[in-house]
Amino acid sequence: MNAAVDKVTVLDAMVIGAGVAGLYQLHNLRKMGLKVRAYETATGVGGTWYWNRYPGARFDSQAEIYQYWFDEEMYKSWQPSERFPAQPETEEWLNYVADRHDLKKDIQFSTRIASAHYDEGTERWNITTEAGEKINTQFLIACCGMLSAPLENRFKGQETFKGDTYLTGKWPKDATSLKGKRVAVIGTGATGIQVIQTIAPEVGSMKIFCRTPQYIIPMNNRKYTEEDWAYWCERYNETKDKVMNSFAGFDYDFTEKAWADSTEEERQAVLEKHWEGGSLSLWLATYSEIFFDEKIGEEVSEFVRKKMRARLGNDPKLCDLLIPTADDYTFGTHRVPLETNYLEVYLQDNVEPVDCNASPIQEFVPEGIKTADGTIHEFDVIILATGFDAGSGALSRIDFRGRDNRSLKDQWQQEITTAMGLQVHGYPNLFTTGAPLAPSAALCNMTTCLQYQVDWITNCVDYALKNGKKTVEVSKAVEDAWVKHVMKLLEPTSL
Ligand code: NAP
Repeated sequence: MNAAVDKVTVLDAMVIGAGVAGLYQLHNLRKMGLKVRAYETATGVGGTWYWNRYPGARFDSQAEIYQYWFDEEMYKSWQPSERFPAQPETEEWLNYVADRHDLKKDIQFSTRIASAHYDEGTERWNITTEAGEKINTQFLIACCGMLSAPLENRFKGQETFKGDTYLTGKWPKDATSLKGKRVAVIGTGATGIQVIQTIAPEVGSMKIFCRTPQYIIPMNNRKYTEEDWAYWCERYNETKDKVMNSFAGFDYDFTEKAWADSTEEERQAVLEKHWEGGSLSLWLATYSEIFFDEKIGEEVSEFVRKKMRARLGNDPKLCDLLIPTADDYTFGTHRVPLETNYLEVYLQDNVEPVDCNASPIQEFVPEGIKTADGTIHEFDVIILATGFDAGSGALSRIDFRGRDNRSLKDQWQQEITTAMGLQVHGYPNLFTTGAPLAPSAALCNMTTCLQYQVDWITNCVDYALKNGKKTVEVSKAVEDAWVKHVMKLLEPTSL
């Protein structure tokens, strides 16, 4: 073993991850005067915005609210170029944040954490990196991201394909141009939709492997001028107040008249207004009744279906394949993708949808993809927009051992429990952000929720230190009560 491997780095607090949450967590703990370092697998900051460099990647919150709120001057001196900026700009923005606060000097890049074991004798954590480096810390904060563990190797024979295979969540910096190529896209979630609509003008031909149809909302993206940004800078405090106090961390909320108190004309006018406005407000600022009342959910779903049918030229085959029915699921029961001219892609002559329900993907072959009906679809490039091991995936890939050597991974294979997504009973001084069962997780404007979580953790660590408490651990009773509360809230939307 070399000296670097033998040496143990001793810290007060350690952060895993240098994405939106990790950067803010590092900043906060350092401001408290703690000896703290962050460790990051990537070669740069950004987290989600480092890895997801697929064509068309962009967030679904407007630039004025996908923000940090701890440095007003920082907000005002970064001018977004669009209402919904794309990945390169967001990665650049996070670098600007890190540089402005000199965070990189305390981040170790290209480092993957392999294990984190709690020592009950010393009441501290022993962490080992994949390279064998050792770290010892009192507080351990895992800001690993909700969507940072892409599902790889989903298909039989994947390695046999002779062309290029690109996974959206690990899109290479040096990916070759898709111009004129025969391209396959598997997956039509929010990621697939962004890829498809972006590459459609340049590919030679494209086959889109569709399985579960999606309700969509137009993004209504546009360029931001200096005047636009001056407008938002003037409203900094007002906007901050709104995002910090709304249902899901956006600057809009359920402020329309209740469904039952509105006439049919009023409801249609409200839905039209939000559809035209773009953003997720059609989902999170019209009628909260859609989450609890099937009939109302169905009426809003039908409003969206009608819009989608018209854009597909009422083509019966395309409508059947691409528009969810009442038997599938209701609008808003999961996060709704925002899009720009996505449906129109299917009207291009060089684009062909493949119905994976009628004929599922069987395997990859050297020429491309073989479906169950025996067809071999030939491609130069296959794009996998097939999703993530969401929520628990990134944390389960680290061997966390708590008191009595209990394993978080094994425990979560039985049942996923957390207290507010912030702690798990049995793991003293381990805190998590973007973890399962955190309030608002799948609905949130992520920067808002993550800042709430980081602020809570910061305050908790501060309290412990100021009050001579060596460890903080959620009790089993509190964790159970939280899980019960979440399950009760979920019941009305469960099938
Ligand atoms: P996803 O929603 O899990 O979508 C994965 C897609 O792959 C689905 O269409 C799935 O079909 C399909 N798929 C998986 N295995 C398949 C198979 N064997 N055959 C055919 N199709 C298959 O993943 P995602 O699109 O990456 O989105 C993940 C999360 O990230 C979402 O919550 C999304 O909102 C978020 N996101 C947000 C943004 C944004 O801010 N704008 C952008 C991208 C992603 P089935 O549904 O039938 O399984």
